[in-house]
Amino acid sequence: MSARILDGREIARDIRADTALRVAELTAKAGIVPHLVVILVGGNPASRVYVENKIRACAEVGIRSTLVTLDPGIAAQDLIAEIERLNRSPDVHGILVQLPLPPHHDIQAVLRAISVHKDVDGFHLYNVGGLVVGRTIFSPCTPYGVMRMLDHAGIPVEGRNVTIVGASNIVGKPMALMMMARDATVSVCHAKTRDLAQYTILADILIVAAGVPRLIGAQMVRTGAVVIDVGINRDPQGRLQGDVDFDAVRERASYITPVPGGVGPMTVTMLLVNTVSAAERIAEGGRALMLPEQPDGGPGRLTGRPGADAA
Ligand code: NAD
Repeated sequence: MSARILDGREIARDIRADTALRVAELTAKAGIVPHLVVILVGGNPASRVYVENKIRACAEVGIRSTLVTLDPGIAAQDLIAEIERLNRSPDVHGILVQLPLPPHHDIQAVLRAISVHKDVDGFHLYNVGGLVVGRTIFSPCTPYGVMRMLDHAGIPVEGRNVTIVGASNIVGKPMALMMMARDATVSVCHAKTRDLAQYTILADILIVAAGVPRLIGAQMVRTGAVVIDVGINRDPQGRLQGDVDFDAVRERASYITPVPGGVGPMTVTMLLVNTVSAAERIAEGGRALMLPEQPDGGPGRLTGRPGADAA
């Protein structure tokens, strides 16, 4: 068997075309152009490349974007004050703080300062916690992109054994919660897991986000499994590679994602989707309906419908 390739670029192209239509409709009907503000603290070259990619992707679908570059030495309270200013600005719909931040910042405090209504990365404590009860407003972009990929390919999740390798806050854990919300049977593995293969071999859907090149070989994969490789690593020649031994595993799997060109393009695309959803919610008055803001930037009581992007 040779697996079918889940082509993230192609799926992302379809979703971006749909997103561009949503932008055009929102502009025509409500006079709103979705606006994403990206905050970059310092000049980390990798972060700069990521930010430039996001800004380019915004332009592609008609989302307005603004890059706010702040001095790496900016005081913690000044960064938070800048975020609060953007929270209050009615023409800003999405706010993203590019991580990592210089060490003197408390990342959780910074993420909590972003209004949940504008938290298009889905990292605010409310949005993370909302995944537990199925009431999140914005899902984190990478696991959301994986779900959309599976749905696009018509791969069912309900009742499937899903093994996730990697338990980070931005990929593995939210991925597990989204899969549970769809009635999958989920195992989560991490660096301390003993005998990783005994879990991976059970998987109908295997999602790998460990950051370890070639962690998953063919003997660890069940015949016919769907294999999603989130990992992004550079080999000594500087080429990108995932966490899965692609050539070997594709002979076992039914579907597999390549690296590059798999999950990566989906992540940026879901940021665009979340930004448009944020602007649509504001146009529909969803903000007032849903979550009165609390003084600490938290969401307050839940009164309305679940968000448009609940996973
Ligand atoms: P992280 O370092 O925060 O977490 C890695 C997780 O993998 C941890 O839970 C760790 O315990 C686990 N792990 C490490 N070694 C392991 C091993 N040998 N066996 C089992 N588990 C192991 O990383 P992250 O931010 O979650 O990212 C993971 C990978 O995904 C990285 O390669 C990153 O570049 C990539 N990534 C890709 C995208 C994308 O859009 N494609 C987005 C985010 C992250």
